[in-house]
Amino acid sequence: MRRLLAFLLLSALAVAGAVWLADRPGEVTIHWQGWRLDTTVPVLLATVALLTVLLSLLGRVLRLVVGGPGRMLAARRTRLTRKGYVALSDGLAAVASGDSRQATRLARKADKLLKDQAVTGLLTVRAAEISGDPATLRARYETMTERPETAYLGFKGLMDLALRQGDRDAARAHATRALALQPGAEGLAGVLFDLQMEAGLLAEAELTLGIARRHSVLPSAELAHRRALVLFARAEAAEKSGDAAAALALALDSRDAEPSFVPAVAMAARLHRAKGKPRKAESLIRSTFRVAPHPLLTAEWAALGQADSPLDRVKRMRILAEDNPAAACGHVALAEAALAARLWGQARTHLEKALEQQPSRHVLALLAQLERDERKDEAAALAWLARSGDAGTGPAWTCGGCGRTAPAFSVACPACHAPGRMEWR
Ligand SMILES: [Zn+2]
Repeated sequence: MRRLLAFLLLSALAVAGAVWLADRPGEVTIHWQGWRLDTTVPVLLATVALLTVLLSLLGRVLRLVVGGPGRMLAARRTRLTRKGYVALSDGLAAVASGDSRQATRLARKADKLLKDQAVTGLLTVRAAEISGDPATLRARYETMTERPETAYLGFKGLMDLALRQGDRDAARAHATRALALQPGAEGLAGVLFDLQMEAGLLAEAELTLGIARRHSVLPSAELAHRRALVLFARAEAAEKSGDAAAALALALDSRDAEPSFVPAVAMAARLHRAKGKPRKAESLIRSTFRVAPHPLLTAEWAALGQADSPLDRVKRMRILAEDNPAAACGHVALAEAALAARLWGQARTHLEKALEQQPSRHVLALLAQLERDERKDEAAALAWLARSGDAGTGPAWTCGGCGRTAPAFSVACPACHAPGRMEWR
């Protein structure tokens, strides 16, 4: 509608112009290089208009002749790019269906046609991942680390690759770079923390925990446990280097991070005792025993009364056992003290309680000892020992990673070296 209006308007203007010119005839004379041209104004104007149209047509023809090859090249490039995108799309489909040979072939084709790692990077990496070729995969990940948009995925891929190949140092270096790029990445801070603990890089491990806390990537209970662990490891290192005061402060910090972390409590109690502060050791052990009873605590408690008579040692142990009557280890420790003091009745009472709460081979062995010591009754002793097959070994420091047990707590599993996996169960 608007075009029609414009056309009508222009036509009206042209007609008006023609009429206007016809009403005002005039003559034009041109002298040029000895030539003379006589004509009228309308004829001159018509000639100029015609020449303009002819020149414009000539320009178009020239552009067609000169620009032809360039346009053909551009068309060819468009065709190749299109083929490249088809290869890319088919390649991603092959990756999704797990066809590694097809995916690798199409990735190579897309790479050749599109000549742009930014576009084909993800396909080539996924193809290399499912083909399981580590050398190609490493090269792909390294290429990805060069662009800011894919650098995180590159370093994370290199870390996973290094972990699979058992190169813990390389894995740690790549994990550090990846975490710097994406501090809130799911699971990454935990992996880096373990790698740093394994390498004894305690200060770095603490920094990693700080990042994990700021970005809330670990549950608070796990964060607390890991913090207690790294502080405990630092306390052990301080004690090893002869700095008992620093070791005690760090052990107490570890206890504060996770109040039920008994290895730290036992260590702090032992260091208090060594400093001649038995009262502090006692209150630490008692407050922990009420919420987290453990043989490490009964052992430290017994150590506080080393110089006492056997009877006083029974009295001392009764105080702790009564703080938490539901704790089998309290009854066992009290029974052991009673056996040493030849208080047979007390020993039997508490062994029976322990047997009821948590039957174990150790309790049965103590009952057998009681039968022999009190009544010289070998048959009754053997009857207790015969039940050992049914009773378990009782709780022990067990690695959550490899499942093996150890006689004492350690920051890293003595068998598989995984840090922070030793649990009392
Ligand atoms: Zn282990």
